Amino acid sequence: MNAFKNSLDNPSLQTLFNGHPDLQVDQNKGLLFKEANLTEIANQVGTPTWVISADILQTRYRRLVEAFINEQLNVSIHYAIKANGHLAVLDLLAKEGAGADIVSGGELKRALAANIAPAKICFSGVGKTEEELRLALQEHVGQINVESREELQMLSRIAQDMNEMAPICLRINPDVDAGTHHKITTGLAENKFGIAYQQAIEIYTEAHQLPNLKPLGYAVHIGSQITTQTPYRKAFSRMVELITQTREKGLSVEVLDCGGGFGITYFNEKESNPQQIASLMKSKLGSLNIQLYIEPGRWLAGPAGILLSRVILRKNNGQDAAPFIIIDAAMNDLIRPTLYEAWHGILPVEASTYKNNVEECHIVGPVCESGDTFARYRQLPILQPGNIIAILDTGAYGSVMSSTYNARPFAAQVMTKGDQYTIIQQRQSIEAMWENEIIPFQKTK
Ligand SMILES: *Cc1c(COP(=O)(O)O)cnc(C)c1O
Repeated sequence: MNAFKNSLDNPSLQTLFNGHPDLQVDQNKGLLFKEANLTEIANQVGTPTWVISADILQTRYRRLVEAFINEQLNVSIHYAIKANGHLAVLDLLAKEGAGADIVSGGELKRALAANIAPAKICFSGVGKTEEELRLALQEHVGQINVESREELQMLSRIAQDMNEMAPICLRINPDVDAGTHHKITTGLAENKFGIAYQQAIEIYTEAHQLPNLKPLGYAVHIGSQITTQTPYRKAFSRMVELITQTREKGLSVEVLDCGGGFGITYFNEKESNPQQIASLMKSKLGSLNIQLYIEPGRWLAGPAGILLSRVILRKNNGQDAAPFIIIDAAMNDLIRPTLYEAWHGILPVEASTYKNNVEECHIVGPVCESGDTFARYRQLPILQPGNIIAILDTGAYGSVMSSTYNARPFAAQVMTKGDQYTIIQQRQSIEAMWENEIIPFQKTK
C-alpha cells in the first residue's frame, strides 16, 4: 500500500475509525485505545512511545483458537516472534498457550526467556548458522524447518556430532504468488526461501536416509500481509498433492506447518478472518490425518499496537499548499513506510484537536532522509506544535525494526490493560547508544 497516495485515495477519518473498532474518541479524554487514555500516556511517558494492548493481543489470540475449535480442527499456534518479540508480549501469548516460530538463535533465547516450552518452538529461516543449529538441538526445540539440501546435510552432521536426533520439517517453496508487496512475498520460485517443490520428495527421502534426522513433514510460508484466500488455497492444494505422493512412496508425513502471513486492515484491506482460514484449512487439510501448525505474526500483534508521537513544528515549503507536519517519531522508530511504502492510519489524540478544521497535510519525521515520510496528503484536523498523534497498526514489525539512526534513542514502550498502562521498556538514554563503542589506537604515555 503506497504511502504517497494523494488525498482522494486516502480514507476519511470516519472510514479509518470504522476499520478500527478498538479506537474511539471520548469527548473529554480524547483518543482511547480500548479503554486506555492515549493523551495521558503521551503526557506522562513522553514521545515517541510504542503502546501495545494486552487486551487486544489476548482477544485476537483467542479468536484464532476459537475458530479452530469451531471447525474441530487441531491446530497448534506458533507465534512468529519476529513480529514483536518483547518479553511482555511473549509472556502473554505463552500463557494463552502459544508456541513460537523463531528465525535466529537470539529469538530462541528470547522465547526461552519468556518460558515458552522448547517442544513448542519451531526454528525457521534460510540461513541458520552451525552455532544456532547446535543451540536448537541442545535446547531440544520441537521442530527445525530445513530450507535446503545443504542445510539438511549440515544438520545431520551436527546432530551426529552431538548425538542428538533432529526433528525436522522441509520448508517447501510452492511457487505460489501471495499477491502482496514484492518485499514480503516468499513463496515464489524466484525467492530465496524453501526447497523447490519439484525436489521435495527426493530431499525428504534423503532426510530419511541421513543419520540423526527425524523427518516429521513439511512446512510452507508464502508471504506476509495476505488478505485473500486464493494464495492459501493454491498453496494448500499443492501441499496436499505433495503429502499424498510422499505417503504413496511409503514415507510418513505427520506434520504440516502452514506458515503465517494473515493480513490485517491498514488502509481498507479486509483483514484475514480466522473463521475463514479455519474453514479453508478444514476443507483442504482436514482429512489428511496430520498435525497442523500455523505461524501468525502480524495478524496477532499488528492491530494491538500504536506509536504515539508529538508534533515538533509545522512548515510550509511554498511549493505546495499542504504543510509538512514534522513529528518527533521517525523512520528509525517505524521504518515500514520507508521500507515497503507501507500505509499507516494516523489519528489525532487529544480531544481538543478533533474540534479543529480539517486540512490536507504531509506527516514527516526529522531524520535527514526524504524517505522519512509517514504520510502524504492526509486529511487531518489542523495539528499545531505540541499536539499528539497516533500512528496505527504498528504492533508488528514496528519497534522490533527500530534503529538508533541519527543518534535517536530507542523509544519507550508501554503495555495497556483496561484503563491502566505500565512501562515495559524505558526510553533508551542518549549515553546508552554508545556505551559499547570503543575508541582504538589511543596513545598512552
Ligand atoms: C515472518 C514469518 C512468519 C510470520 O509472518 P506474518 O506475516 O507476520 O504472519 C511465519 N513464518 C515464517 C517462516 C516467517 O518467516
